[in-house]
Amino acid sequence: MLSEKTAQGLTYAAGVRRAQAPLRVVIALVLAVTFHTQLVTDWLWIWFGGYVACQLLEVWALWPFRPERATSPPAWRIGLALVSIFLLGSVYGAIAIPLWMAPGSLGPAGAALLLAGGILNVLSHSRGSSLAFMAGAVPFAAYLVAAPLIDRAVRGADPFSLPFILVGVLFLVAAVVVFRAAERLTEAQTRSVAELDARRAGAEATSEAKSTFAAMVSHELRTPLSAILAAAGEIQRRAAEPEVRERAGLIAQGGRLMRALLDDLLDLSKLEAGRMRVEDIPFDLQLLVEDLSLFWSSEAQRKGLALTLHGAETLPHKAEGDPMRLRQILNNLLSNAVKFTESGGVRIEVAHHETPGQRLVLRVCVVDTGRGVSPDRLARIFTPFDQGDVSTARTHGGSGLGLAISRELARLMGGDLSVESREGEGSRFTILASLGRSASAPVAASASPPPPPPALAVRILVVDDHEMGRRALTLLLGPLGAQVATAESARAALQLLSLERFDLVLMDVTMAGMDGLEACRRLRADPGPNQGTPVLAVTGLTSEKDVQACLAAGMTGWVAKPVDAQKLYDAIEGVLADQDDPATAAA
Ligand code: ADP
Repeated sequence: MLSEKTAQGLTYAAGVRRAQAPLRVVIALVLAVTFHTQLVTDWLWIWFGGYVACQLLEVWALWPFRPERATSPPAWRIGLALVSIFLLGSVYGAIAIPLWMAPGSLGPAGAALLLAGGILNVLSHSRGSSLAFMAGAVPFAAYLVAAPLIDRAVRGADPFSLPFILVGVLFLVAAVVVFRAAERLTEAQTRSVAELDARRAGAEATSEAKSTFAAMVSHELRTPLSAILAAAGEIQRRAAEPEVRERAGLIAQGGRLMRALLDDLLDLSKLEAGRMRVEDIPFDLQLLVEDLSLFWSSEAQRKGLALTLHGAETLPHKAEGDPMRLRQILNNLLSNAVKFTESGGVRIEVAHHETPGQRLVLRVCVVDTGRGVSPDRLARIFTPFDQGDVSTARTHGGSGLGLAISRELARLMGGDLSVESREGEGSRFTILASLGRSASAPVAASASPPPPPPALAVRILVVDDHEMGRRALTLLLGPLGAQVATAESARAALQLLSLERFDLVLMDVTMAGMDGLEACRRLRADPGPNQGTPVLAVTGLTSEKDVQACLAAGMTGWVAKPVDAQKLYDAIEGVLADQDDPATAAA
């Protein structure tokens, strides 16, 4: 039974032999031309013709042996390939017999050299298949042994025959030993490559599991965090005593820091898993940069630093890209610049240049006169979780993720983030990003203070299997003056929705038992009082794919967990306005 290994070994040997075919014919021709004056002339040309025919047969027989083929050729084909290799060796080696008996300078030495060369050639390309090696080498070895015997039979006793036979046998043994050693080496190589592959696959699986775990943990933490932020905000609004308000403010501040850390962890796991996408939407580039500068100059002022903006007036208003992610990168650079500068100031330099195809390259430099970064730390500055030294985390907080994420985001935007720094003198971070030029009206990117929530005389149903989630949303909905009911499962919600009319449903997506998506699908399929009621998904999973799944299930929109009060009010206002709009309502 011919094995897979034989087929693989043959595939390798076939590749080499096919490539060598023209050279072999040339060598045979050179031999025929060289020896035709010294050996029997006619015989030589017959030999050459036979050799070319066998070479053609071999090329044909070896044709299907290719690494790119998914299945190995059938057994008969493997047999044919081995026979053709054997035949070619037999015909080629046949010239050694007259050569051995030739008079003059040729003789046994020339013939032995020719046959040894043949064996070495076979040895060089017979990897992993002893059958391929045998088929190629046996004719040469046989001639090596037979030539002196034939010589003795034809020309009588020859005193040198026996040593030649011994040399031939020794050569054959050496060739087999070398072949076995090369085969073992190849096997060891194959094993270590397989081991490396297995380790790489293991590392990839671990990384994937780590990303999934990070996404799951940050998602699970969002519900309690929503509750912390909502409760702290509510206490801050309602408490009469200033100390209580201050403590609630502290809780809110801690919650916001946790939210930022969660966002960073989630971003990092998305980037590591290659799942991060940047958007391409219209926005006001000049306004975005001016807003950020305004915000951070008041932060800088608190530390007695000057923050200046240069070149913003040259930026176009209409651009296309991901304003949220651009803001995230710039916020990170500006927050670091203000955080790590004790005297002097921070300078923002912006410029852009047009590129073909309605695109522009934005360049923003954030330059500070702060503590700077030493050369050895500079080399690791974009490494996730690296904050230089332990004291940085204690004195300045942060996670050491901001720059790593910022650089990856800049790269996703077709640009990069780089840094130059001198310890004790300051740093210069430069971000490049490729943006589109937008013709349509930009979406407002203003950071002006949020308007107060509108008072709504509406009924809202909050569906969440987590009590903390229900309470957090109820608290956040309080200032709206809406009438709020809650349901602790998708089934309970569907029952309530089949009986009473609501103006809006806030539906948690990940729930035990029936999830929010299935609940919404059933609501839309049931011709009850709420078949057309808007449903907002409340979810920690906000990737493009997750959002599409919500919309496909019949949801009207979504808000991200931990729920930001203003974003929730905006989303509610948006869906209710659409309901009131007769054009949308009729659709
Ligand atoms: P973090 O959230 O800890 O600030 P970053 O990735 O944004 O994480 O920054 C990593 C580290 O790089 C910081 O902890 C700090 O040591 C150093 N660093 C970043 N920006 C500056 C800067 N402008 N000046 C000096 N050091 C900086």
